[in-house]
Amino acid sequence: MANARESELHYPLGETLPGPGEALDLAPGVRWVRMGLPFALDHINLWLLRDRQDGREGWTIVDCGISSDDTRAHWETVFAERLDGLPVLRVIATHFHPDHLGLAHWLTERWGCRLWMSATDFNLARLASSSTVGMGGASAAAFFGSHGLTDPESLEKIRARADYYPKMVPVVPSSFRRLMDGSEIEIGGRAWRCIAGYGHAPEHISLFCGDAKLLISGDMVLPRISTNVSVVDVEPEADPLTLYLSSLTRYLDLPTDTLVLPSHGKPFTGLHARIDQLQEHHDERLAEVVAACRSEPTHAAGLLPVLFKRKLDLHQTTFAMGEAIAHLHALWLQGQLRRELGADGVYRFSPA
Ligand SMILES: [Zn+2]
Repeated sequence: MANARESELHYPLGETLPGPGEALDLAPGVRWVRMGLPFALDHINLWLLRDRQDGREGWTIVDCGISSDDTRAHWETVFAERLDGLPVLRVIATHFHPDHLGLAHWLTERWGCRLWMSATDFNLARLASSSTVGMGGASAAAFFGSHGLTDPESLEKIRARADYYPKMVPVVPSSFRRLMDGSEIEIGGRAWRCIAGYGHAPEHISLFCGDAKLLISGDMVLPRISTNVSVVDVEPEADPLTLYLSSLTRYLDLPTDTLVLPSHGKPFTGLHARIDQLQEHHDERLAEVVAACRSEPTHAAGLLPVLFKRKLDLHQTTFAMGEAIAHLHALWLQGQLRRELGADGVYRFSPA
């Protein structure tokens, strides 16, 4: 959802964006690459960090882009023109989502280098890429059905999307190096600290460099849109919103003038204001959910017009359902709402 308080943030580069196949200098040894995406969210930011590994000079890439001919071609242009003639030495993925991990296999093969990421996301990516079990298709449709989504056309399309992840991430590297919360890794002689975040992906890793006051925030903190926080069918009783909001507080210790490098949108300062905005945004949504459930027992699908005041396509509907369930679950698992399974097999929530 768009950020009404965006003017509280500062974009040091103004409207400047790197074009396809370009890499814009952001700070010494830090370059910004922007790749297209075939969604309503039409781009992803990727980062190049000047590095040194085992006595070799080169670059670390943070996040990969989806597996597509266009993205590969733009990477080849970056390799030819923007690596100063040096190789890629390492690939880091913040989390397992297709726009971040899609080309990890191609990049690590192309350069003979290692993928670094969290173990939870690596293993989930391996599972999701090689199997459809629990990652969409019939189980996703049944799950959304149990939360009130009854439109047969939508359910049929969700059933048909069982190959969603493998299509965008056909192969995941067979080995990796593990990143964990609190790990310090050295990139080009500078220390970067891993900060694990929950609620968006199982174990999302952001990277903070104190020397340069840079935070590669991945999808955990975005300037313009709120991070997707969804319950999905593989973990149907999850409480990702509570996890996400508590993860956000972990960034409050970082310096106020930190330059945030987000996966979507533009690099910005105003991290603390943005965290405050996100907390306010979810507090307002939670209050709307409580109010709706007070007027009558409500299922997640019934909340879509309350929470999302615009027309949604199918892709957006599945995200919106996941988000609506996440808000219901936060209130349910904190004891503010109770859940009842109706004779129609649908969960409805009312004040506890
Ligand atoms: Zn993501």
